[in-house]
Amino acid sequence: MLDAAPLLRDVFGFDAFRPGQAEIVEAVTAGENVLAIMPTGGGKSLCFQLPALMREGVTVVISPLIALMRDQVRALQEAGVSAGALTSGNTPEETDAVWEALERGDLKLLYMAPERLASGSATGMLRRVGVSLIAVDEAHCVSQWGHDFRPDYLRIGALRQALGVPLAAFTATADLETREEIVTKLFDGAAPRSFLHGFDRPNIHLAFAAKDSPRRQILDFAAARRGQSGIVYCGTRAKTETLARALTEDGHSACHYHGGMEAEDRRIVETRFSREDGLIVVATIAFGMGIDKPDVRWVAHADLPKSIEAYYQEIGRAGRDGAPAETMTLFGPEDIRLRRAQIDEGLAPPERRAADHARLNALLGLAEALGCRRKALLAYFGEESDDCGNCDLCDTPPEVFDATTAVRKALSAILRTEEWFGAGHLIDILLGADTDKIRARGHDQLPTYGVGTEYDKRQWQAVFRQMMGRDLVRPDPDRHGALRMTEAARPILRGEAEIALRRDSIRKATRTPAVKT
Ligand code: ADP
Ligand code: ZN
Repeated sequence: MLDAAPLLRDVFGFDAFRPGQAEIVEAVTAGENVLAIMPTGGGKSLCFQLPALMREGVTVVISPLIALMRDQVRALQEAGVSAGALTSGNTPEETDAVWEALERGDLKLLYMAPERLASGSATGMLRRVGVSLIAVDEAHCVSQWGHDFRPDYLRIGALRQALGVPLAAFTATADLETREEIVTKLFDGAAPRSFLHGFDRPNIHLAFAAKDSPRRQILDFAAARRGQSGIVYCGTRAKTETLARALTEDGHSACHYHGGMEAEDRRIVETRFSREDGLIVVATIAFGMGIDKPDVRWVAHADLPKSIEAYYQEIGRAGRDGAPAETMTLFGPEDIRLRRAQIDEGLAPPERRAADHARLNALLGLAEALGCRRKALLAYFGEESDDCGNCDLCDTPPEVFDATTAVRKALSAILRTEEWFGAGHLIDILLGADTDKIRARGHDQLPTYGVGTEYDKRQWQAVFRQMMGRDLVRPDPDRHGALRMTEAARPILRGEAEIALRRDSIRKATRTPAVKT
C-alpha cells in the first residue's frame, strides 16, 4: 500500500496523524466498511480525504452542509487535489464542469448534497465513472429520531448497493441508538468496522519541564528508570549521538537512531529495541513508524516537538501494554525560536504557516498549562474530561501569580527599544544591569530601566518564556530573533486584560519513582 505519510505532509501540511486518524485511514484505504465516531474538531475529513487520494477512482462524499462542502473543495483544490461539488448552490456551468471532469476520470473527490440522490439519474451516472468509495459525513443525519434528520440520507444505503463499493460513515454522535440506526440504514445491518475510542491513554503520565540543564535533566530522568526500555526524542541528528554516548557512559544500554544512518544500521537498532529489555534509543522523529513494542516504559523529549499532534504521537509510543508509563518533555525559549523559524522559513503558503503557528501555540499552551495537562490535551482534540490525577500538574498544582504588571513592564521594554532586542538584553534593562551594551545604546536612560527589580533574572526568564508560550511576543527571524509584540498582547498593554503566569516554571524534572537521587 502507498505510504500515507508523504501525502499527509505534502498535500495536507500535517506532520503527524491526530489520535485515531491513522487506524481509520488505514481501514478506509483498505476498502473496509467503516463507522468512525470522532469528536467535533477531531479531524474527520482527513479520514476520507486521504484515503480518497490513496485509492483508484473517485470518492463520493455526502455531506449535509453546503458551505462546509464548498470550503473543503476550495481547500483541496488549493492543495492541488482535483475536487468538485454538486449542490443546489452550483451554477449550471459549475455543475456541467463537475460532470465533465468526472467523465474524464479527473476527479478524486466529489462532494454531493444528499438531495442529489433523490433524482435517480445521479446514481446511473455515478455508476459509469468509477466510484471507489462513498464517504458519509455527519452520518447521524440518517437517524429519524435525531435533531438533524435528513430524509435524503435514507437513500445512501441504496446508492452503496447500486455502486457496490465500500462506505465510510463519520459522526461525532456517539450514543448507541444512533450508531445502531446508522448500521441498519447505511450498511444494511452488516456491522462495519467501528472506531469509537476516546483518545485518552490514561496510563501515560504527562509532564513538561523547562529546559534548565537539558543533558542533566535527561540523565536524571533515565537514571530514575534504570533497566526500563525508553525513547529519547531529539531535535537534531547530532544530538542523538552525543546523548546516546552520555547515557552509555552513565551505565545505560543506549544507542542512537536517525534518518542519516544506513538502512541496515537502523534495522539493527529496531530489532534490538523490540527484542531487548531496557534499551534506550535516542532518536529523531525518524524512529517510530512501525515500532510497536508494547512495553516501552518511558518517552522523553530532549527538545520540544513540532506540534501537539507530533507530541501526542510520540508520547503514545509509551505504555501500549496499558501498564504505567512516564513521559517528560523539555522545552525552552530556544525551542520556541527554532520552531517559529522553521515555520517562517518554510516554503508553505501563508495560510498554512499561520495554521502551523497556531498548532505550535497549542503545544506551548500545553507546556505552560496552569491546570491538568491531560484535560488541556484532550480538549485540544475535542474531548472533554476531568482532572486526570496522572500528570505533573495534578501531582503538584502550579503556583500562579497575577503577572499583569510584569508582562506590561516586559512589553514596555520591548517597545521602548523598538522591538530590536532579545530576552537577555531586555531583562538586563528591566533589572537595571550595568552592561556595555546598555551603556552603548543609552538604554540606562529609558524609563523602563531598572523597573523590574522585584524579580531576579531567572524569574524574568520564566516570564519571557511564558510570554512566548502564550504568543504575546514572537522572535522575529529577520531581526536575529529579536522579540516583537503580537496582537494578542495589546489588550494587556492597554490595561484591558489581566494575565496569570506560573511562578515556578523553572521546576525540576517530574516526580521520581522508586530511586531517589
Ligand atoms: P471535524 O472532525 O470536526 O470534521 P476537521 O476535519 O474539520 O474536523 O478538522 C478539524 C481541524 O483539525 C482542522 O483545522 C484540520 O486542519 C485540523 N487537523 C486535522 N487533522 C490534522 C492533523 N493530522 N494534524 C494537524 N491538524 C489536523
Ligand atoms: Zn492531570
